[in-house]
Amino acid sequence: MAESTHDHLFKLLIIGDSGVGKSSILLRFCDDEFNEKQASTIGVDFKTKFLQVRGKKLKLALWDTAGQERFRTLTSSYYRGAQGIILCYDCTQRSSFEHVKFWQDEVRKYSTNQDAILMLVSNKVDLADQQVTRTEGEEFAFANSMMFIETSAKTRHKKNIRFMLARRTLVSAMATVL
Ligand code: GDP
Repeated sequence: MAESTHDHLFKLLIIGDSGVGKSSILLRFCDDEFNEKQASTIGVDFKTKFLQVRGKKLKLALWDTAGQERFRTLTSSYYRGAQGIILCYDCTQRSSFEHVKFWQDEVRKYSTNQDAILMLVSNKVDLADQQVTRTEGEEFAFANSMMFIETSAKTRHKKNIRFMLARRTLVSAMATVL
């Protein structure tokens, strides 16, 4: 049998309304690319990423919704066993922030892992017409025991988004088993 390529495998999901930038965030995270003409109905489905944390080789399995969230039909198989859940909204679309509660309820209903780390992500902060303030996002996240970051899959707001997502979400999620 071939030697294992990793010490740990982690499943990460990305959820949120259609069009908030989920596929774009994954594309930035995995390949450091941004596609302006990304069709919002075409998801990346599934990507893998290898990381080295504290001397351990980690394989991340990143799941995208491939547009199914439009029909709100993500079911238990999508959520099953996820250690990290990235819940995104678009800060220029108030409705997508209001629907965060819906997505949170879905996680409660379907996620089998009580210890899954949730991270709330406010995406598209490069745009001027923002309808949700950073404080609102932060307060919601704090009240619901989630981590919070603002990002732009387009401009790599502040630091590299790969760094932020990798370090903050994953290291905490992984700390329980490393
Ligand atoms: P999804 O349906 O949630 O997977 O969203 P997509 O990743 O398909 O993105 C929807 C649209 O928003 C596309 O036209 C993207 O190019 C655009 N988009 C995604 N992230 C950003 C961002 O951070 N800033 C800006 N300005 N546009 C973005």
